[in-house]
Amino acid sequence: MALPDWQDPEFGSMIRAALWLETEVEEGGIFTKTALRSAFADVAQIDRRIRDLRARGWQIDTRREDPTLKLDEQRYVKKGAEVWVPGQAAAAKSKASLTATQRSAVLRQDNYLCRSCGVGSGEAYGDEGVRAQLDIARREVRLLDGTVKTELVTECNRCRIGGRSRQEDLGALLTEVKALSGTEKSALAGWISEDRRMPSALERLWGQYRALPEESRAVLAAAVIDDVTPEG
Ligand SMILES: [Zn+2]
Repeated sequence: MALPDWQDPEFGSMIRAALWLETEVEEGGIFTKTALRSAFADVAQIDRRIRDLRARGWQIDTRREDPTLKLDEQRYVKKGAEVWVPGQAAAAKSKASLTATQRSAVLRQDNYLCRSCGVGSGEAYGDEGVRAQLDIARREVRLLDGTVKTELVTECNRCRIGGRSRQEDLGALLTEVKALSGTEKSALAGWISEDRRMPSALERLWGQYRALPEESRAVLAAAVIDDVTPEG
């Protein structure tokens, strides 16, 4: 079905902005604020309409979410509610926007850390000096009873890129956990109660083994392999 014309003055400016993104920019495309403003020269605050679209599930990234963008650029990542369809705009808004209370509750329970990479708000990533900003992401989780639920999780602007369509499967994870050895399970339990991962003796030894010069590596390798190979 062909989309309505984004220039149709019958539509409000948010709907026209949505149609403009769909027809002129297209998903994945980059646009500049200048291009947006010149397309909507007749609309006073077109930037606000873009924000309204975000609240309706449209993913439009700025430099904040995607550091590869230039200051003036935004990327139209993913379409949200089809706001030009009557009734869609209002329905999508109540579902999509989080209250300040919800946001701070999620941040608090996630210890103010990105749950994907562990970075804290305002911390540097340790490479080009960009600082992390935390945001709330929606994550689909398949529960043990098989139903899929959307849950909220803290994520930094870097991890957010590309992570959106992920679905976690609690049942599958539980099956994998059950298959771990006793030693592995207690290491995992330790990390869970600390909420951070301490390197195990195994990992530390692996790291030290790998860093050894070839001759010493061979000595250690032979000793370890000898020890696990059954006599015969
Ligand atoms: Zn992160």
